[in-house]
Amino acid sequence: MIAVGAPADAVPASAADLLRVTDLAVEFRTRRGVVHAVDGISFDVQAGEVVALVGESGCGKSATAYSILRLIADPGRISAGQVRFEGTDLLGLSDEAIRGVRGNRISMVFQEPMSSLNPVQRIGDQVAEPLTQHRLANRAQAWARAAELLRRVNIPDPEARLRDYPHQFSGGMRQRVMIAIAMACAPRLIIADEPTTALDVTVQAQIIELLKAAVQADATGLLLITHNLAVVARYADRVNVMYGGRIVESASADDLFAHPGHPYTLGLLNSVPTLDQSHGAQLIPITGQPFDPLQRPSGCFHPRCPQANDRCRAQSPPVFESRAGHRVVCWLAARRFQGGPA
Ligand code: SF4
Repeated sequence: MIAVGAPADAVPASAADLLRVTDLAVEFRTRRGVVHAVDGISFDVQAGEVVALVGESGCGKSATAYSILRLIADPGRISAGQVRFEGTDLLGLSDEAIRGVRGNRISMVFQEPMSSLNPVQRIGDQVAEPLTQHRLANRAQAWARAAELLRRVNIPDPEARLRDYPHQFSGGMRQRVMIAIAMACAPRLIIADEPTTALDVTVQAQIIELLKAAVQADATGLLLITHNLAVVARYADRVNVMYGGRIVESASADDLFAHPGHPYTLGLLNSVPTLDQSHGAQLIPITGQPFDPLQRPSGCFHPRCPQANDRCRAQSPPVFESRAGHRVVCWLAARRFQGGPA
């Protein structure tokens, strides 16, 4: 069955949601005008699940991640929507209350660990910091727990390594430290923003394996922000594909890779590198460039879409949904799903 004309990204609420983002919009004021970086998106993450947000640079996936913890800096702002975490709207919390969530109930792992780690502070103090801040642990207790965390992320000789500084670790080991910091307070949700981009291919797989193991062991939710569909295929349970600040397709990972419904997803899949490719393998972008965010085209994705027709230039498509909950924002999806109007 196809649901035609549903509001873009509409998702029924569930009492069991760990995270539910509804109609989220983020804008940045520039001298040339207002950029709508995130344009009314909705998705959810359940406990124990890996949910991917996928798309090219500039599609809005990182702005989405930062919005969840209200880390959008001026001149950006969250202009609309809700971010409910365990039933609480994070956008309505006081500054003090949201600081109590960050690094505690929700943690982030960033792309480049060197920009997140303090170069002049021992690793032990940095791993221990969330524990002293959120768990009122004393320094000895926090360092003992920090050693356990380094062991859990497979850093050899953890008691000794606690006394080292970030420059004494390799890039992969620094990212392991970041995961240890993220796991310190046993968060319910980890947001990983391109966590492996700066690493070589072998280490990439190890880091994602670590994150997946943490999710499975503690029933944590993982929101994985990435442009790498090979990583998504191997590790994600569900996938949301973003283009131009909007989610254009969402489905279980199995369904998305078996039956991709949106021309943009197909373009990404045709350019996918694999985790086994040699170091330096690059995603080959689909034809053309993302549109100028200040000049969104009329209708749909047509300037880059090989299947665009006149209707696409005039009208934005609604959401079409298959029986299995696979949703596609494209006029052609109706025909693909069940022979509807196309
Ligand atoms: Fe392409 Fe048209 Fe589908 Fe948009 S609605 S993705 S332009 S075919």
